[in-house]
Amino acid sequence: MTNTLIENNFRTNRLPHIWCSGCGHGIIMRAITKAVDELGYNKDDVCVVSGIGCSSRAPGYMDFNTFHTLHGRALAYATGVKMAKPELKVIVVTGDGDCAAIGGNHLIHSARRNIDITTIVFNNNIYGMTGGQYSPTTPTGDKGTTAPFGNIDKNFDLCKLVQGAGATYVARSTAYHVNMITQQVKTGLENKGFSFIEAVSICPTYYGRKNKKGDAVSMMNYLKTNAVNVKAADKLPKEKIQGKFLIGEFYKSQEPEYTEEYQKIIDSFQKER
Ligand code: SF4
Repeated sequence: MTNTLIENNFRTNRLPHIWCSGCGHGIIMRAITKAVDELGYNKDDVCVVSGIGCSSRAPGYMDFNTFHTLHGRALAYATGVKMAKPELKVIVVTGDGDCAAIGGNHLIHSARRNIDITTIVFNNNIYGMTGGQYSPTTPTGDKGTTAPFGNIDKNFDLCKLVQGAGATYVARSTAYHVNMITQQVKTGLENKGFSFIEAVSICPTYYGRKNKKGDAVSMMNYLKTNAVNVKAADKLPKEKIQGKFLIGEFYKSQEPEYTEEYQKIIDSFQKER
């Protein structure tokens, strides 16, 4: 299965990948690809768009239609792709800096429009590729190269942000809970609207070192022991979830989808002519 998955869905001549050993990004990339494979989509019907950053290198290895664009602009390009070819399954692969800082406006407006794009954020809580600067998801008090004494900003809860902006599928998993990522991406791809999956990743090279989180195994153990499924959280006493974070599906709804609404305008105009 593993070899077939890789042979059928990856550009093996581009491997090995550039990520540091212990990085969580490869795990997430594989989980996304597995979701597409299991859904049985024709590869030519899938387009993966990324911006800039460590996570945004993923589409270079994935054997679909792929598009490596500008910093923060993956969703803007993906919107163009989807408007031009609504029949495509459009996936955006992005990082926390790419989507929540430079691309923050594209993120909230894509959610507001409920355009049928599945966005997966590889959230490693830092800018990895550009040298460890703190990002909008770096927890308050944690360090980065641009916050050597600790970050005083309040960090975004990306799932709440995007749900509030209008996304119709919102979920979170981690690089440890890999099967959950695959399941969430499958649900996102089948949702007719803007789907947002936060895949919590690990960056042992910058975030881990700067914040003394230990090696990659320790960081994975942190994900394993601190993630609480939202379904279980309701039944647990408050002290059991204090300081932990929630994973699972947070929101699902059905709303008019942007490209379909746009097509209705075109159709009604053409009828009048
Ligand atoms: Fe992964 Fe961090 Fe290395 Fe980037 S810098 S490849 S996010 S471990």
